Amino acid sequence: MTEQLSKEEEYFARQEFERRKKLEEDLRAKMAEEEKQKQKELHYMHCPKCGAKLVEISHKDIKVDKCSGCEGIWLDPGELEQIATDETHGFKGFLGLFSK
Ligand SMILES: [Zn+2]
Repeated sequence: MTEQLSKEEEYFARQEFERRKKLEEDLRAKMAEEEKQKQKELHYMHCPKCGAKLVEISHKDIKVDKCSGCEGIWLDPGELEQIATDETHGFKGFLGLFSK
């Protein structure tokens, strides 16, 4: 009987442990998500190089972000390919849009 009880206790203890572990994992995942969001807000539309504000410039359906500080140009995924295959203006023509 004693053994029966201790096994039962062990079972519940383990269940409780699993439950708490799950809660802990959920909490950690939530915090990581919040941290990611915070980082995004902090850096969104800011130049990764100098931290100045980025200004969005669009040409056709391509939008590029140009830094108001160092004048670096940042592309979103796939945009380089789009520019490179632009038959009308080509890569050089596109770059010409941003030169002074
Ligand atoms: Zn910059």
